[in-house]
Amino acid sequence: MQMRRVLVVGALLAAVLPLAAVPQADAAPRHRERVVPCSRGLVALTFDDGPSVTVTPRLVRLLQRERVPATFFMIGQHVDAHPEVARMVARAGFAIGNHTWAHEDLTTRTPKQIRTSIRATHQALLRAGIAPTSFARPPYGAMDDQVRRVLVGIGYTPVLWTIDPRDWAGASTPLIETRVLGAVRRHRTNVVLQHDGVTNSPATLRAMSTEIRTLRRRGFCFAGLDAAGQPTPPVPVASVRPDERRVAEGGRVGLTVRLDRPTSRPTTVRLTAEGRLSTDVVRFRVGETSARVSLRLPQDDADLHAARSSVGVSGGTGIQPSAPVRLHVVDDDPAPVVSLGDAEVDASPLLPTQVDVPVRLDRTTDHDVEVVGHSSLGRVETVVPAGSQEAVLVFTVPVGTPRDEVQEVRVRVPGAAPATVVVRPPAQTRAEAVRSALATVRWPVVTLPSLF
Ligand SMILES: [Zn+2]
Repeated sequence: MQMRRVLVVGALLAAVLPLAAVPQADAAPRHRERVVPCSRGLVALTFDDGPSVTVTPRLVRLLQRERVPATFFMIGQHVDAHPEVARMVARAGFAIGNHTWAHEDLTTRTPKQIRTSIRATHQALLRAGIAPTSFARPPYGAMDDQVRRVLVGIGYTPVLWTIDPRDWAGASTPLIETRVLGAVRRHRTNVVLQHDGVTNSPATLRAMSTEIRTLRRRGFCFAGLDAAGQPTPPVPVASVRPDERRVAEGGRVGLTVRLDRPTSRPTTVRLTAEGRLSTDVVRFRVGETSARVSLRLPQDDADLHAARSSVGVSGGTGIQPSAPVRLHVVDDDPAPVVSLGDAEVDASPLLPTQVDVPVRLDRTTDHDVEVVGHSSLGRVETVVPAGSQEAVLVFTVPVGTPRDEVQEVRVRVPGAAPATVVVRPPAQTRAEAVRSALATVRWPVVTLPSLF
């Protein structure tokens, strides 16, 4: 009797729903509160008894289009019959679990038979080129202590369900929708059992769009299963998009940080930027997918004319980062103009001689400016300190050059007109220089103390 009542109620609901849709659509803008996506909890969809040539590919395409994760519990002999369909499900990114070889009631089997059935299905999935999960679902939900012990013993996590719309028993599409939508509970474990491999599966397929749309509108998110077989939200991918790709050094850049799907829990995203010591943290509340941030780029110490930097997301909780974005950092402080002064020096026949080539900047800067000079006397560096405009490049004239003629040495610095250093030959020969050096030495007068 009870069975009969259920059926009558189901049929009534099915008849009323399409009619009720009209006034509801009118009233919707006034009464429907805006529900934050994912704020009401998770729903994991599972589909059993496939793969089927007719229903499974259409179901996979629909779920892909709607970006809904799902787990497919496949029967081994169906996988063997249509490995290409099983492969298509796996390639589309859906998890695949083990539903025994021939849909046996495992409580009527010996441990050895259970293992054989599960392993044969596992082998069929491997032959189809699929990496199966370790989820196993006993057909009919028939699981006793022995079945559980055997499944766990060979490394499987048994997964049952919390919602069974009895689509396998020939329910109509509206009835399947009503049963699923009526059974999903806020902040509870919602694992829905439906079928893609039974005679009535086309009815299930037709129910999917309404189920997905309605549950999303009510604030539920769709989820896969975690290692324990519990619904777990898919991990959003976080990406960064700068307002502009060319940014002045030390300037600010506006960034949009985006998640490719709403989160079901508060999520933190860390921003990284090359050359920055601090990280910026962006917080997403439940259901948010986009945030704006402003990031200050570092001011370089070195005098770079232009540089590249990258901005990306890292770490954070519950997100996976996408590739960082390259920024073109333009020096907002153009390099000062360097000019060089000429110099002259008398070479020494005895010691290397140093000559100072003056360096001058046309203005001061707020950072040290490095100047590199090249000449036949070698490569020399100097630094014009921040706030200063002057420095010298110190070149060394080696002993023995020039021998007898005046030598002009060109000094070059990138971006500056070359300077000339006049090096005159030593006025004396080495011997004369030694003699005159000795002549200038004042020998000390030593007075011995009287010892006795
Ligand atoms: Zn089944």
